Amino acid sequence: MKTVQMLGNRKVRVLDVPEPEPKDERVVVKIMSSALCGSESHTYHGPNTVEAPRYNAGHEGTGIVCKVDRSSVVREGDRVALYAGTPCGQCRYCLAGHWVLCERRDSAPQRFPGNHSQYVTVGDRACLPLADDVSFEIGSLLGDVLGTPFRAIKRLNVNAFDTVLITGQGPIGLSALLLCKFLNAFVIVLDINEYRLNHARKCGADVCVNPVEETDVLARLQEAAGPEGIDVALDCSANPDAQTLCLDALRRGGRMAFIGVTDQGPRINTIEHFTKKELELIGTWYSRPGDHRELETLVRRGLQASELITHGFGIDAAPEAFDTFFGGSAMKVMLDPWN
Ligand SMILES: [Zn+2]
Ligand SMILES: [Zn+2]
Repeated sequence: MKTVQMLGNRKVRVLDVPEPEPKDERVVVKIMSSALCGSESHTYHGPNTVEAPRYNAGHEGTGIVCKVDRSSVVREGDRVALYAGTPCGQCRYCLAGHWVLCERRDSAPQRFPGNHSQYVTVGDRACLPLADDVSFEIGSLLGDVLGTPFRAIKRLNVNAFDTVLITGQGPIGLSALLLCKFLNAFVIVLDINEYRLNHARKCGADVCVNPVEETDVLARLQEAAGPEGIDVALDCSANPDAQTLCLDALRRGGRMAFIGVTDQGPRINTIEHFTKKELELIGTWYSRPGDHRELETLVRRGLQASELITHGFGIDAAPEAFDTFFGGSAMKVMLDPWN
């Protein structure tokens, strides 16, 4: 079977490897669609690994269960969306449905090789049922790119009364925009990339701001929001300056989610941001399995998830797919392992 191998230094190659076999609760899934993710940047742009190549880390995908040893969770022929990690199913977090916080993740069967492949083996608990009326491509977007901002938006109770600022209009920021517009909020987006701003405009953003073109970005945001101010900020940029801007731009009592992943952080002024403004700040990481089912419902009711997909490639064109994805003029790039 074919799989994508990451070699570092912007190189990937497609390899033929033996098809995996099921064992115990580990099942084989025939991948039907796999999405590239910004988090693969580390492996893609990272140091050369030609001597010790890594299998791909593809973690957003859907498929059909095709070989089962002794699973009680899935059967051959099931359409499934693959949760990115495999939960132990037994710890306090798993029992509460909060799989991403699983305490015993390492004890669960790991995926092999990765979703950018024709087949993977994966722990059966990572196989979420995919409804018949949701396509494999859209199903691949539910767990991470839509699920991550969806979870933040639910926790912050974003609604039609809110004015929302979204910093960063990559795929996660665009997903946040689509979800907030679906909920009828007023949405201001910010990015330095004109391609992304144009895409956001097309997807219903009420105001698009490019900070490079503004002399006073904060004043521009406040003017766009009007006298009631900005109720909610969703940082999807992972840029410390944008995060600080969110904290400064929020109205008193505003709510904010840190969605973008960075090891740096915003410049927090404890008195100004916390004590005087009483901001509510949350961090959020991936989605819960229940979010997947709710997102299927939103797709059924008209959420324009397909706006996220701008490119598709067959697996043999994986090098081109990665080039396109990280080139700055693409949103979600999909791989079809059978094309
Ligand atoms: Zn991802
Ligand atoms: Zn667990």
